[in-house]
Order: sequence, then structure tokens, then C-alpha cells
Amino acid sequence: MDDDTGRGFPANDVDSSSPVSEAAAGAVLTIDLGAVRENYRRLKARLNGLRCAGVLKADGYGLGAAQVAAALAKQGCDIFFVALLGEGIALRKAVGPGLDIFVLNGLPPGSEPEAAAAGLCPVINSASQLKAWRETARGMGRSLPAAIQVDSGMARLGMAPAEVEAVAGEAGAFDGIDIRFVMSHLARADEPQQAANEKQRREFDRLRGMLPAAPASLANSSGIFLGPAYHYDLARPGAALYGVNPTPHEPNPMLPVIGLQAKVAQTRRVGPGAGIGYGHAHHADGPLDLATISLGYGDGWHRRAASAAWFEGVRLPFIGRVSMDSIILDISALPAGRLSEGDLVELIGPSQSVDDAAGHAGTIGYEILTSLGARFHRRYVDS
Ligand SMILES: *Cc1c(COP(=O)(O)O)cnc(C)c1O
Repeated sequence: MDDDTGRGFPANDVDSSSPVSEAAAGAVLTIDLGAVRENYRRLKARLNGLRCAGVLKADGYGLGAAQVAAALAKQGCDIFFVALLGEGIALRKAVGPGLDIFVLNGLPPGSEPEAAAAGLCPVINSASQLKAWRETARGMGRSLPAAIQVDSGMARLGMAPAEVEAVAGEAGAFDGIDIRFVMSHLARADEPQQAANEKQRREFDRLRGMLPAAPASLANSSGIFLGPAYHYDLARPGAALYGVNPTPHEPNPMLPVIGLQAKVAQTRRVGPGAGIGYGHAHHADGPLDLATISLGYGDGWHRRAASAAWFEGVRLPFIGRVSMDSIILDISALPAGRLSEGDLVELIGPSQSVDDAAGHAGTIGYEILTSLGARFHRRYVDS
């Protein structure tokens, strides 16, 4: 099947250099590219070997689009999706020619020549984008690849039904356009009981029936788990590749991909009544052992994400407010002196998943991942 026969390049060829050394950094983000590849393999198995793209928007959900692309290519993945043209241009430079890169948000007017020069495929979301791409193709004297997106019921991106009907009835509307896929996106794929899914699927079939015949694509990560009726010719998972649970009401079928550890900057003991952190949001009831770690909301750690760090399986509650560059932990549960400057405590890892942290913050794992900061030392491993 798609095992290491990939067309790509080995992951080690990609520049994985981190902006900051491990010794200098306040926190270490570990990204397991082997887990990304295993997650891709698991999704492919669910898809019975159908084609499966990798969604790499927002710099691979914050984990490094170039590194993730290299890992997926090694696994046989040859189609990638980004959101913005700029992301596509950067990814093209990183992966070279030969792999398909689609731009989900379409092309801003006037940027078509730049997209064509970089060998990128727009996802065409409107009649005006279709016209602009057609004219670009005509000007270049060759056909240009694209995906056509229809809005099957999300009202975000894609041609509305009336627009689909209009272009379908227009002679030459698709001249010079090599339609690689007709696609749409599900609004409620993570809610399998929702009738909206079936409704969107039927509407997708109706709309693509009006368009020139082409392979179809509907499922994101969660959509893959809605069953074969949603698989069509190509799936487009993002979050599941990165270890976010695509089936939020059931155990996570994916492997975790990231670990986040922060360094202890200082430890101290305070006496009863001590005011702790900004606003003295907490006062010590009795003597307390504290550790301050070098990670805060300036690293994309939401002020309400999670409420504890972990050390060797021991829970160390946050105490007081999360600062820009630091968080104070109550380490009284550890033997005195067990934790010292430079030690690493776990924020995300075996004791606390991305989805756990998201749950605390009242957000989704996607936002936790894409917020991960630029100050971390990034350690890429391939398990
Ligand atoms: C983000 C996105 C995906 C991937 O979604 P996940 O839920 O991360 O799997 C697929 N298709 C479109 C159009 C998207 O915007």
C-alpha cells in the first residue's frame, strides 16, 4: 500500500532547526512525526486505502507544515491542503515540485499569476474566482488545475447552489480548468447523530451532479468516522493527524503527537497569608512550596487552559494567575527539594492531553495546537 514507498524525501532532509536551543529555552515542544505517520496510516485503514490528503493550514496546525509534509510524503501522501496562498508558496518551496498543494480559501483577486507560477491549485469558491482562474489559464495558453468547492450547507466557503446552477449552465465556464476535485465541507461532522450531516451529503451529491464529472471530496477528520458514505474519492483530515480526537464523545482513536514541557525558573517556600501572583488572586493558607515555570500566555498558553502541570505523575496545581511568561505551581505534593531550577514539568503529555487542556479553556484542541508559541525549543522526533 502506501508504506514507505513515498515519493518524498526523508524527514531528516527537512530543516528542523529550532529558533532556540533546548538549554536556552523556557519550554520544550516535542513533535512526534512518527505518531503523525501512524495516525495517517490509521486513517488510511479506515478509508480502506482510498486517497487521503494532509491538511497543513496554519503551519500544520502549529506543528510545522514543512516537517509534517515531509513525514506524510514518506507515508505516501501526495496531496496537501493549506488555507492561504502565502502558506502554499512557502510549502511549495519546502517540498519542491511533484506534490499537489490546494489553497482552501481561494485566491485573492490579482494573485492568480503568483499561484500559477508556484504550481498551486486553488480551491475555487465562487463564480468570479472561476472566471479569474479561467482567464489566467487562457493567458498562459495551457490548462490549470483546481478544485471546485460547493456550499452544501455551512455558509462559509464555496459556491452557493444558485451559483453552481449558473456556472453549470454557462457555456465554456470550465474551459482550460482541470477539475481535480469537487469538494465541500461538513459543519457538524463531530456530531454523528446530527441530521445535518446526511442533509449536507445529499446536497453535495445534488450540486456536484450539475458540474462536470470529477472525483469528490467531503470528509475532514471527523467526517472519516461518519462512515463510508462520506469517504468519496479523497479525505481531507487535519486535526486527527495531529492527535486531536476526531470522535469527541468516544475514546481517542489517534496517537498523541505533541508533548509540552516547561522549565522551572525558580522555587520558593512562602508562609501563611502570602499573596501569590498578580492581583494576589490567591493567598497561602499555610506554608506552601512553589515553583515558577517559564511559560505563560505569551507562549499561546491560554489563561484558562488546564489548571495543573505534572511531574513524574504528580499533579502540581496552578496557583494564582497565569502571567505572560510564567505560571506559579503549588509543588507541596512533592518531597521537599525534589524539583529544582531547570527541571522540566509536563503541560501536555501522558497526564494531560491537548483535548484535556482545551476542555479546561472552553475551547477545542485545534486552538490549543495553533496557539503554540514561537519561543519554545522544538524537538522533532520520529518514533
Ligand atoms: C480545516 C479543514 C479541513 C480539515 O479539518 P479537520 O477537522 O482538522 O480534519 C478539511 N477541509 C476543509 C475545507 C477545512 O477547512
